[in-house]
Amino acid sequence: MKKLLFACTIFVLVSCKTLNSGTTLTPPPPTTPVVVEPSPQETPLRPKNIILMIGDGMGLTQISAGLYSNGMKLALEKFKHIGLHKCYADNDLITDSAAAATSFACGIKTYNGAIGLDAQEKPVKTILEYAEMKGLATGLVATSTIVHATPASFIAHQKVRSMYEEIAADFLNTEVDLFIGGGKKYFDRRVDKRNLLKELEEKGYQVASFLDEDLKEIQPNGKNFAYLTADSDPLPVAQGRDYLPHASKLSIDFLKDRSKEGFFLMIEGSQIDWGGHANDANYIITEMIDFDNSIAEVLKFAEEDGETLVIVTADHETGGFAIQKGSKPDSLVTAFTSDYHTADLIPVFAYGPGAEAFMGIYENTAIFDKMFAAFGWK
Ligand SMILES: [Zn+2]
Repeated sequence: MKKLLFACTIFVLVSCKTLNSGTTLTPPPPTTPVVVEPSPQETPLRPKNIILMIGDGMGLTQISAGLYSNGMKLALEKFKHIGLHKCYADNDLITDSAAAATSFACGIKTYNGAIGLDAQEKPVKTILEYAEMKGLATGLVATSTIVHATPASFIAHQKVRSMYEEIAADFLNTEVDLFIGGGKKYFDRRVDKRNLLKELEEKGYQVASFLDEDLKEIQPNGKNFAYLTADSDPLPVAQGRDYLPHASKLSIDFLKDRSKEGFFLMIEGSQIDWGGHANDANYIITEMIDFDNSIAEVLKFAEEDGETLVIVTADHETGGFAIQKGSKPDSLVTAFTSDYHTADLIPVFAYGPGAEAFMGIYENTAIFDKMFAAFGWK
């Protein structure tokens, strides 16, 4: 229809020009300019919700080892938009989890050990704090303590990552709707004698821990929700920890109808990194598969929902992990070059509205920028 209109307009213009050359005629009526509207497919879609999933220490070899050991498949394969980020810290080519998570959370490079602070030790607002400010529901889930570097960098502002009690106290300065992770002792057996679990209850939270009830048995009652999965570090999955896939689903069910503005949720598979530090391939593989099972839960929701952007990435690789000659899918011959982090580029997988923006190679700080833009914030 528009093409036809355009052709007619051209015809009228050409005809008038020919006729006008020798005769006097009344000028043609002004033509309406043809406006080409983008087709619905070209309209950029904005997600209502963002779920950022961080596999701590999850480089490409960790993913590969998980895939080979899991019958040659992972839920991660469903992602079609894939990029790489540059993970280095402000003061070191080899980042730690605090600087890296602060880059995701705040969009800045900072020094190793910094929690939500810039290189000059100034607090920087996190994506979770922006989400709270804009009326979204928010959540944090981890298989480490909830005050460990990665989750901490989304909610706390401290000079050193090991200030666990100070980081726990920062949870009280926010309106985070849900958090699930270990580290109960930093909330209720503190040097300053504060009982933060009680304070959370007084603030209107439903608070529970592994001592009260299994996470799988518990029913959120509509209040903000805090669940402590261990007194300090949760167990490795190979030793019986089994809550991450369930916690991922529970968090989504909890957050999805909580605000009409949407939600922001960060889920960390924390212990892939610990397998790397321990140079323990089986530890890495079991944690990788557990994280992938959680990714499957998240994707199940995102596929049905259609308004959720899922981003899966890591803060850095750990161990200089390699799969060597003589390997078979069910018996990998592995080696490590380090018991610490390495400076490898790190894969980023994105699914859902806005996922295209995560293709290419970019700084780790761009993960924040891209999430911020995807939400349509200015
Ligand atoms: Zn580490």
